[in-house]
Amino acid sequence: MSRSVLVTGGNRGIGLAIARAFAADGDKVAITYRSGEPPEGLLGVRCDITDGEQVEQAFKEIEAAHGPVEVLIANAGITRDTLLLRMSEEDFTSVVDTNLTGTFRVVKRASKGMLRARKGRIVLISSVVGLSGSPGQANYAASKAGLVGFARSVARELGSRNITTNVVAPGFVDTAMTEVLGEERKAQILKEIPLARYADVDEVAGVVRFLTSDAASYITGAVIPVDGGLGMGH
Ligand code: NDP
Repeated sequence: MSRSVLVTGGNRGIGLAIARAFAADGDKVAITYRSGEPPEGLLGVRCDITDGEQVEQAFKEIEAAHGPVEVLIANAGITRDTLLLRMSEEDFTSVVDTNLTGTFRVVKRASKGMLRARKGRIVLISSVVGLSGSPGQANYAASKAGLVGFARSVARELGSRNITTNVVAPGFVDTAMTEVLGEERKAQILKEIPLARYADVDEVAGVVRFLTSDAASYITGAVIPVDGGLGMGH
């Protein structure tokens, strides 16, 4: 059965791998992008998730092309790492506005169609650091931890309508986001990961797809780590 899927930030990195995984399964996949050209074979809708009007417009475009969104993957996210004393209010609020409030904007909009259809699958991409914390990432960790409380509240509100809401918490994944880390920091991180390597984007995509499948129909409000064991115990 071909579903209408939206992956925010699906133009590159983890989001693109997720989008490609759904497309390979025959789903109708839309992705958001902010600039440049969208990847081939996917419906690209230009959308900055910090702007409610752009979110509304993107959903209208998707609904016209693919029908109401049945599977939402809220993946778009940013970092603005720096130590607390150096962190400006703008560093903090811009990360929260994208990672947490941006997710609220798309989940709220997607839930309208899902409630009408009385079915839906929502997956939010959080991070291991949302639970463990990370020096230099107070803004990012706060936004990613916020996603957990948000998802669990939505899971409770929408569960009786056959809509599941789950969180995937990746550890370190090979993308542009982690490329910027210095060699010393990377070596330090690797020592802490039981599987002793970064994740490949497809290893995150596989778990996201599972959570939207029939096999996961009784899972909601869960936080699934995909972190090579890095966050064990949190
Ligand atoms: P990338 O930096 O490679 O990609 C980020 C994506 O988010 C891009 O598609 C970007 O779009 C999009 N995005 C950022 N801000 C906005 C916005 N305001 N509106 C719309 N789209 C936006 O990151 P990753 O692929 O590594 O990360 C994807 C998700 O996974 C993020 O939420 C991240 O926090 C999370 N994550 C990543 C980990 C990692 O190790 N890489 C670990 C744990 C979690 P554009 O191309 O327009 O900039």
